[in-house]
Amino acid sequence: MLFRNDYNGLIIKTAFKGIKFNRGDSKHVVVTASAAEVWDDLVKKTVMAGLSGLENLSLIPGSVGAAPVQNIGAYGVEIKDVFDSLVAYDLPGQQIVTLTRIAGA
Ligand SMILES: Cc1cc2nc3c(=O)[nH]c(=O)nc-3n(C[C@H](O)[C@H](O)[C@H](O)COP(=O)(O)OP(=O)(O)OC[C@H]3O[C@@H](n4cnc5c(N)ncnc54)[C@H](O)[C@@H]3O)c2cc1C
Repeated sequence: MLFRNDYNGLIIKTAFKGIKFNRGDSKHVVVTASAAEVWDDLVKKTVMAGLSGLENLSLIPGSVGAAPVQNIGAYGVEIKDVFDSLVAYDLPGQQIVTLTRIAGA
């Protein structure tokens, strides 16, 4: 996000780091990544771990936190294809929320 002028307000930039691999079932691995991780680093780590699903989304610039907001996509794959859920802080509601993919999306 680029600011072209001074901004008279509060700016919050997440700095959470961490990537965890948890086995889901015999065919799936649940990967949990923090919002401030560099997106392409996450793709590299999943590929290095022998996991398929994110490889078409390599070299997309930006953070993990921004990826589901805009549903990043490339070469016929969108993050919605492998996305399960995210945990976020809802500023207006002042609470931690879990958001899942819209059914059928
Ligand atoms: C050269 C180039 C190639 C690109 N190629 C592709 C491509 O192939 N496919 C594609 O889909 N996109 C592509 N993009 C777009 C790119 O994916 C976005 O620019 C990127 O995802 C934005 O990431 P950012 O970390 O800079 O996010 P920001 O600009 O910081 O944020 C983007 C949005 O996400 C929100 N956001 C960010 N972090 C969080 C958070 N932690 N919690 C809640 N909301 C958050 C912001 O409020 C904002 O609305 C490309 C961009 C460039 C410059």
